Amino acid sequence: MARTRFLRFTLGLCLALVTVSAAEAQRGLGLGKRNRRSPQGLPMKPIEMPGESYRGPLPELTAAQRTLRDQLKSDLTRLAGVIGERNLRNPENYAAAALFLEKSLGEMGYDVERQEYRAGGQACVNLSATVAGGDRADQIVVVGAHYDSLSGTPGANDNGTGVVATLALARMFAGQKPARTLRLVFFANEESPYFQTSQMGSLVYAKACRAKYENIVAMLSLETIGYYSDEKNSQQYPTPLRAAYPSTGNFIAFVGNTESKELVTRSIGVFRKQAKFPSEGGAVPGNIDGIGWSDHWAFWQVNYPAIMVTDTAPFRYPHYHQPSDTIDKIDYERMARVVSGLESVVSDLLNGH
Ligand SMILES: [Zn+2]
Repeated sequence: MARTRFLRFTLGLCLALVTVSAAEAQRGLGLGKRNRRSPQGLPMKPIEMPGESYRGPLPELTAAQRTLRDQLKSDLTRLAGVIGERNLRNPENYAAAALFLEKSLGEMGYDVERQEYRAGGQACVNLSATVAGGDRADQIVVVGAHYDSLSGTPGANDNGTGVVATLALARMFAGQKPARTLRLVFFANEESPYFQTSQMGSLVYAKACRAKYENIVAMLSLETIGYYSDEKNSQQYPTPLRAAYPSTGNFIAFVGNTESKELVTRSIGVFRKQAKFPSEGGAVPGNIDGIGWSDHWAFWQVNYPAIMVTDTAPFRYPHYHQPSDTIDKIDYERMARVVSGLESVVSDLLNGH
């Protein structure tokens, strides 16, 4: 998740959540004019999310979820523990991370496609693996995560967690014959100084898809999904929005722009049916600062529906973009619950109506 303009990001995502979980509270809060209205000057219309966020004690992990938890931990230990910081300032680590992903995907039976490009004279690569679809093979579902980390941090949560979750989904869907095509993609250069530039890996990737007239029907950006807390006031918001939100940072968030509204509601609807885990969602204009601050933004630029699945990163995680964003901070059990729920979401996107 990109770091710059953090406060505006905070405001943006808060707004996304408030439209869903506390529409009534929003009206009563006396939010500033800019926040109450979309940038086009139209009143912000809250969009209702289907189902309800899970409340209550989390059930025991199933046997499959325990295996998943262990796999997530082992992959993240390799990526963010052994390899560590990975970006163009550390090209050897960056290459080691790409090699680890290629090798892992290869072991699952995938042929890995490399999309190479250059940034400031240095070589970068996006990696993708495909599960071919059946009768709707031309319709493509992309699940992706950026595998670079910001300079100065091993990026365990941001975004090692998104990467190992994508690897886990690759493992789950390997060898399946879904109706639509699934692509698992690992993007380069999401972090500063490449964010929202022509050298951002996901933008290079999305533009190439559009140039090939590919029909991407859904894109999920898995971004920083490994930190949860049951402490009161562990979920931070700027004044005066604080009162409108859950104060406990124990949920996973589904965030999209208004054009991706159907994808947000469909995804969180399936998640809530399948996963006994708290969730919040929002769909608001994508040009509100912050709503698009990961790789899903790149897909919006070429008019594909795309959403971000996130633990909300800077609102909650004390080690966001710090050298202390290390593997011991990650809640592998809850992350396994989230990824297990995402398996149902992806399965529905591949085989549903
Ligand atoms: Zn980040």
